[in-house]
Amino acid sequence: MAIPLLEVKNLVKRYGTVNAVNGISFTISRGTCFGLLGPNGAGKTTALEVIEDIIPPTSGEILYNGAPKSPTFREDVGIQFQHTTLLNFMTVGETLLTFQKLYREVESFDYMVEICKLREILGQMNNKISGGQAQRLMLALALVNKPKLIFLDEPSTGLDPQARRYLWEIIRGIKEDGKTIVLTTHSMDEAEYLCDEIAIMDHGRIIAQGSPPQLINRYCEGGTISLPRENVVASLDDLPLPYREENGRIVIMTDKVNTGIEKLLAMKIDLSDMTVHSPDLEDVFLNLTGRKLRD
Ligand code: ATP
Repeated sequence: MAIPLLEVKNLVKRYGTVNAVNGISFTISRGTCFGLLGPNGAGKTTALEVIEDIIPPTSGEILYNGAPKSPTFREDVGIQFQHTTLLNFMTVGETLLTFQKLYREVESFDYMVEICKLREILGQMNNKISGGQAQRLMLALALVNKPKLIFLDEPSTGLDPQARRYLWEIIRGIKEDGKTIVLTTHSMDEAEYLCDEIAIMDHGRIIAQGSPPQLINRYCEGGTISLPRENVVASLDDLPLPYREENGRIVIMTDKVNTGIEKLLAMKIDLSDMTVHSPDLEDVFLNLTGRKLRD
């Protein structure tokens, strides 16, 4: 069996009495995108920082290519931090060139510019670029030392939907070029779109792990049909399926959406303004913890 690129074994990080990371284990295969998904404070950034070698663990083991991390580990990895300050008086192009000077082995300037879609803004000052453009520049900076493994800490936080989508396509492109990616996110749609494997974290622990479809199949059943409360003129007790009331709507749970709709039609319930929801990672988290990923 191929040795995984990264193996994390029983990792613990304590801050005083806070168990920020409380015994997590997982392996990451080459060429995949692995996501740590969880709410604020779940321990994702702490886990990432320990794996990146930025802070020491309290206990646990991390193997890179099957062996404890050597001093050259840092040359093999690229990091996009949650917050990075760019120098205002430099252009985007100058920033890339400056970072290239910091490493022995570097990625080609043109590759970084092309893959991160920076060509049109190379001459712009760093303080004049948009949030999405800044994130693309940070991504390019994470590629500058030609890393095999890239860490992205909440890469699209704060971006508008269009800029997020654009960034996701770029991240996919980087993975298709053979890089291994580890990212943290509290966005389930980001995790679903980008990750081959996800570890859902809560209170420092991994509470579920698998590919997005595996997690949905394992922890969610069927879907929901939502209707305005006033559409259900019959007594709610007559509804043939379990339901809950939510913001003036009746949310009906059903194993099979088609059968559920047939039952409602048979009761002559008005289906106008009906919405149907198939389960997603948000539901996985809700079913596992009783809480929403983001309140
Ligand atoms: P977010 O999505 O908000 O970034 P997270 O999942 O990345 O959250 P962490 O930032 O890793 O979570 O924090 C995990 C826990 O550890 C939190 O309770 C946090 O307050 C605590 N923590 C993190 N860093 C420190 C520190 N340097 N000193 C003390 N406690 C810390």
